[in-house]
Amino acid sequence: MELVKSRELYERAKRVAVGAVHDDFRFSDPYPIFFKKASGKMLYDVDGNEYLDFHMAFGPVILGHCHPRVTRAVQEQAENSELWGFGSTENECKLCEKIVEYVPSIEKVRLCNAGTDATYHAIRLARAFKTKRKIIKFEGAYHGWHDYVDMAVAPPADKVGMKHPVSTGMLPEAMDKTVVVPWNDIDSFERAVKENREDLAAVIVEPILHNVGCIMPKDGFLKTIREVTEREDIVLIFDEVITGFRHDLGGVQKIFGVTPDLTCFAKSLANGYAIGGVGGVAEIMDQLKPIGGVHMAGTYCANPISVAAALATLEELGDGKIHQRLFSLGDMIRKGLSEVLEDLKIKAQVAGFRSIFNIYFTDEEILNYRSLLGNDSKLFMKYNMEMRKRGFLFVAHPLKRCHLSAAHTEEDVRAFVEASRDVLTKIIK
Ligand code: PMP
Repeated sequence: MELVKSRELYERAKRVAVGAVHDDFRFSDPYPIFFKKASGKMLYDVDGNEYLDFHMAFGPVILGHCHPRVTRAVQEQAENSELWGFGSTENECKLCEKIVEYVPSIEKVRLCNAGTDATYHAIRLARAFKTKRKIIKFEGAYHGWHDYVDMAVAPPADKVGMKHPVSTGMLPEAMDKTVVVPWNDIDSFERAVKENREDLAAVIVEPILHNVGCIMPKDGFLKTIREVTEREDIVLIFDEVITGFRHDLGGVQKIFGVTPDLTCFAKSLANGYAIGGVGGVAEIMDQLKPIGGVHMAGTYCANPISVAAALATLEELGDGKIHQRLFSLGDMIRKGLSEVLEDLKIKAQVAGFRSIFNIYFTDEEILNYRSLLGNDSKLFMKYNMEMRKRGFLFVAHPLKRCHLSAAHTEEDVRAFVEASRDVLTKIIK
């Protein structure tokens, strides 16, 4: 796929910006697409190509790009202030009231700018509260780029079971305090708790493993984690950065009926505007200054533009109708793709939950990251590139997921399924 203007811009941009991107994952071989506009479900690039977007910016854009209600709220807010940076506002209060109303475990909230901020601060809060140092994270989960958690996300086969760092330059002393456990493996989890309980402050969980597609927790897995953490007096943190507000306004904690002590959220709260937050029981949240001693700050935290966008997003999602429509579109696309795979007898399977879906090119039963080691990345990449040529955009990474938004229609779903049928038929010939 020749993108003449994108290539020209890449040649120019890469001199001043590494790889011409500002997030490693935005690069794709041989050069990134340069976009100029987004609207609803569509993306438009500088070469005049149009894409039906199933990426939705890694998930936040639940209402579709440039949703009129959100855009209007942002424009109106921009007339009054882009940033106060002092004191507080009624809008911040309203937003926290809404979050407390929706998310079962949250009594108090502190807003920040992104998911990484949120997980960092949740861990710091847990450490302060328990005056212990270690945390447990699960293999296959991503909680952001800081040194406490940026490891064992999608390690190569020979690094599975280790604290394989995602980045060079990470501090071994910080990594040392993180214990990595395979997902859906209660015995390993209980063993890790037993071995580390003296110094274990928190367990951080992506309650659905969406950073390697969609691996659901086995029946009772989250409940057992809750029971063990309660029994052993360990803070349970749910990282609902992807799941929060997307799968339900109350997050998956509401769906699964498991209540963590702290929750991290970001993405779908503000339909694409930069926001994040930590919420939880007052006893732990009150460790924050000015009541307690934990420092959590940021020039742009709860900036009025993002707060206005979040309030508008929640208003739009408030009656639950959009969620219901999204879930039925999700069911429809998963069913359609499963039929394609079955008809073509491809060793692959469709995964997903509610508005999220992906295809794994393996017929292994998928329990955790290890089950994905036989996933046929080459086949996925061919599928991804051919779909892109036909105007369907999703991330060129075999373990990333697709997101539906309120802007997508049944017709879009049918078109995606039919294009997949056509592409896969040609690829496997
Ligand atoms: N937690 C989870 C579950 C995530 O998926 C992500 C980002 N994909 C993060 C944390 C980090 O969020 P951010 O990119 O906003 O810093």
